[in-house]
Amino acid sequence: MKMVTPRVFLVGETRVVDEGLQAFLEHVGVPDWTTDAPSDAERLSEVYGRLCYRSFGPGLNPNVTRVREGNGSYLGNVIQVGHGSVLEHAVVNFIFADVSRVFTHELVRHRAGTAVSQESLRFVRLDRLSAYVPTHIQENEESMQVFLRTLEQLEEVQQTLARAFGIEEEKAFSVKKKLTSAFRRVAPIGLATTIGWSCNFRALRHVVEARTAPDAEEEIRLVFGMVYEQVRDRYPHLLGDYEAVEVDGLPHVRTVNRKV
Ligand SMILES: Cc1cc2nc3c(=O)[nH]c(=O)nc-3n(C[C@H](O)[C@H](O)[C@H](O)COP(=O)(O)OP(=O)(O)OC[C@H]3O[C@@H](n4cnc5c(N)ncnc54)[C@H](O)[C@@H]3O)c2cc1C
Repeated sequence: MKMVTPRVFLVGETRVVDEGLQAFLEHVGVPDWTTDAPSDAERLSEVYGRLCYRSFGPGLNPNVTRVREGNGSYLGNVIQVGHGSVLEHAVVNFIFADVSRVFTHELVRHRAGTAVSQESLRFVRLDRLSAYVPTHIQENEESMQVFLRTLEQLEEVQQTLARAFGIEEEKAFSVKKKLTSAFRRVAPIGLATTIGWSCNFRALRHVVEARTAPDAEEEIRLVFGMVYEQVRDRYPHLLGDYEAVEVDGLPHVRTVNRKV
């Protein structure tokens, strides 16, 4: 049995196709339009926002005589007035490793604007178990011993079942899959596993807020604190209204512009 701490990997993000965007700007009559966006996600969010009112410059829309200049100011206003759908276009892609099934059950409750690929314990046979040990358990010697002993026993159960069915010698993958799927039923919900999670920026803001809140579970608070650390400076104009306040040793990431 191995004790682990969740890991957060930011593995992808939206990229602008410059030729396509330039062709669109020419089409709409502003070939020289540029912006000071720090990232492609922010540049794209601004473009989608401005196309709504044709507000790339004064005069393009006869109703518009003045436009807000600058990516930070523009997106800051979008967030403040709650035009959250503009934030749905750009996405970020994460892989969360060494997270428990407690965490993944909670994560997948967030459906809007997300995509999920989860390690299959029907295909991937459990051999060695690893787990994140929550602080309360770690802080109490007796409960720590119970926790570790239980996990070691459950690890032994997996190995005993594997031996009982001779799965190492089994050639047919279809049989191995059925057995692996049966064995996982006696695995603990706290076992560490891997999940891929992508989301748009509207969902990202909502989930970071909800899951770093002090009443959320420790592991998901830990993970979304790490998520925030990785995105905060990368997309300052999409997340700059947040502040992180430490509560019970973990960041509570909050904003006045809730749920855009
Ligand atoms: C601290 C905490 C404790 C929790 N405890 C429990 C618990 O005890 N039991 C339990 O079952 N769950 C619990 N949850 C999960 C919670 O009920 C939600 O399922 C979860 O937070 C997903 O968030 P969401 O509803 O905002 O959905 P998301 O999918 O994140 O959607 C974002 C927003 O989009 C809108 N939306 C999404 N889907 C729909 C829809 N179908 N119809 C209309 N609008 C929609 C809503 O405005 C929603 O808030 C808990 C969550 C937290 C943060």
